[in-house]
Amino acid sequence: MLYDLAIIGAGTAGLSAAIYAARAGLSVLVFEGAMYGGQIIVSPTVENYPGIGMISGADFANNLYAQAEQLGVSFAFETVTALTNAPDKKVLTTDMASYEAKTLILATGAKNRQLGLAGEEKLTGRGISYCATCDGSFFQGKIVAVMGGGNTALEDAEVLSKLCAKVYLIHRRSEFRGEAAQVERLKKLENVEFILDSTIVELQGDTALTGVVVEHLPTKQTRLLALDGLFVAIGQVPQNSAFADLVQTDSHGYIVAGEDCRTNLAGVFAAGDGRTKTVRQLVTAAADGAVAALAAAEYIRSL
Ligand SMILES: Cc1cc2nc3c(=O)[nH]c(=O)nc-3n(C[C@H](O)[C@H](O)[C@H](O)COP(=O)(O)OP(=O)(O)OC[C@H]3O[C@@H](n4cnc5c(N)ncnc54)[C@H](O)[C@@H]3O)c2cc1C
Repeated sequence: MLYDLAIIGAGTAGLSAAIYAARAGLSVLVFEGAMYGGQIIVSPTVENYPGIGMISGADFANNLYAQAEQLGVSFAFETVTALTNAPDKKVLTTDMASYEAKTLILATGAKNRQLGLAGEEKLTGRGISYCATCDGSFFQGKIVAVMGGGNTALEDAEVLSKLCAKVYLIHRRSEFRGEAAQVERLKKLENVEFILDSTIVELQGDTALTGVVVEHLPTKQTRLLALDGLFVAIGQVPQNSAFADLVQTDSHGYIVAGEDCRTNLAGVFAAGDGRTKTVRQLVTAAADGAVAALAAAEYIRSL
């Protein structure tokens, strides 16, 4: 079958695009290599989506998925590994089969950045985690650290402060990038300690994490922190390498596309956190989805 539109990624951008495209009368196939919903499914609360006071990330994702499904959107829970561009269609190869569509939206989002330290892979799941909401409960009453200075790191520290005996929050700079109100809340918590202007230079532990060596950047002095757990929250990296030989990406791997979501390839659009943009949030991902879907519909009309 030749679909009108294929969408890679069932996060907020991809599902919003699917809803708009289905309502515009397009046949839509959405690919998802993990769990529908994308990054937001691990967030306990979303409080900044306009019109919704407060909702859990999981409920937010479930609502989007249910709405797309009710509109007749098809889903393939497969990872797209390659893309071929022909003048009249896009061919997508997954780990299981090949599919064809007239247009394509890349809504591949982003995933967690790693520290890049020796032993990180081996200790992941053995003391190192990238998701406090998912793994925090394993560290009940324990001593943990969060590395990072943005909203995710602050949110992680707050979640962990309710479970753990002690939470160190380690950040490279003297000021946090995340919300000031959340920083103020954390300052008042007795079991949270900030370690600023510092970074982790070594992971310790063979079969499980036992501690980290932290360097104070201005003085180069190091100290050993004994830890049961380390939560890494130092940002995201895009997931576009499978398409980068065809679709133009920037030096960080984000797909080059402006507010119209158009890429260098006719009929291929990029939406959400995986494209070049300054604000990576649910509301901007949803907006991109709408823009990209309607642009795809217009492109099909022009064929
Ligand atoms: C812990 C946390 C809390 C957050 N809290 C908020 C908040 O409160 N408010 C807010 O506005 N934003 C928040 N964000 C940011 C928000 O989640 C993102 O901006 C949003 O998820 C971006 O949506 P997206 O669809 O572009 O990408 P993603 O959510 O990353 O979804 C991309 C999807 O594509 C899939 N995919 C990727 N490559 C392939 C492939 N090759 N084949 C098949 N599938 C593929 C992935 O598995 C994923 O499901 C938070 C993020 C995190 C991590």
